[in-house]
Amino acid sequence: MADALLGPAEIRELAARLGVTPTKKLGQNFLHDPNTIRRIVTAAGLTADDVALEVGPGLGSLTLGLVGAVRHVHAIEIDPRLAAALPGTVTAAHLTVHNADAMHVRGADFDPPPTMLVANLPYNVAVPVVLHLLAELPTLRGGLVMVQKEVADRLVAGPGSKVYGVPSVKLAWYAHARSAGKVPPAVFWPVPNVDSGLVAFTRHDPPAGADRREVFAVVDAAFAQRRKTLRAALSGWAGGAAQAENVLVAAGVSPQARGESLTVEQFAAIAAAAKLSPSGGKLSPSERHRRRGGLVTTEEPEFVNNELQIGDDTP
Ligand code: SAM
Repeated sequence: MADALLGPAEIRELAARLGVTPTKKLGQNFLHDPNTIRRIVTAAGLTADDVALEVGPGLGSLTLGLVGAVRHVHAIEIDPRLAAALPGTVTAAHLTVHNADAMHVRGADFDPPPTMLVANLPYNVAVPVVLHLLAELPTLRGGLVMVQKEVADRLVAGPGSKVYGVPSVKLAWYAHARSAGKVPPAVFWPVPNVDSGLVAFTRHDPPAGADRREVFAVVDAAFAQRRKTLRAALSGWAGGAAQAENVLVAAGVSPQARGESLTVEQFAAIAAAAKLSPSGGKLSPSERHRRRGGLVTTEEPEFVNNELQIGDDTP
């Protein structure tokens, strides 16, 4: 890591020079602690051959750490002032700045293709951004992201945990996730009023024989009423409680179980059983529409769940 990292004085000076006043709306809390940057870069497990994707480089604190560790860095920044200023702070030739919304980028936007996502994410869109990038960029082999601590706990939770929910199952579809530690508010400017957590993840193959959108529709339905048994919670999705029970039994899942006890493989088995059942099982609105011969919208139902709705399925 040859480049000088940014401390508190440099961050303040840079922000003043660029006329940047951090906004809450864009989750602008900038890292000003070189030790935390080094910790993130080390915990990410990068190799010199990796191509890092950073969402929200901000003033460039983490970007400076990343350019010293990998062969290329793509930095996606939604704020045009910050995107324009970044090449002045991080002068590396192997940095590409994308002034874009990370929720809307596509695989074709990146050359070379990213292999690792490493980011101090904007907290209000952290979960949908991670899920969008994993869906859109199959070349990502893993990553390390900093998110609000409660969201980190939720992303790494397994079945049976009281914080296991939609983000946990959907991330488990793509990857194995684990906690890589906690980060205190003092390392940011401005200081946020929440703790932060690091989540490391490694991509794995998704469960075989199931379609992601169909599985995610079951997950959404199961957790929309997480205190109910699956027989009840999935009745709307399946077209009735009896149909839900048939599909659950066919999938080898107890109709009396609750969504919070199921693995992603069990959710996949339910979606697969629904396709084989006489009623076909009820599907997500877009899939229902497609089967009726209509157009499929590009709106992905799984991306509506982000950490701002953290209270929605908390027990
Ligand atoms: N990486 C920097 C650091 O650690 O100091 C800044 C991190 S700050 C928590 C989040 C950054 O994400 C901000 O620079 C913000 O402008 C940017 N951002 C917010 N929403 C975004 C989006 N949808 N797409 C891309 N960047 C976004």
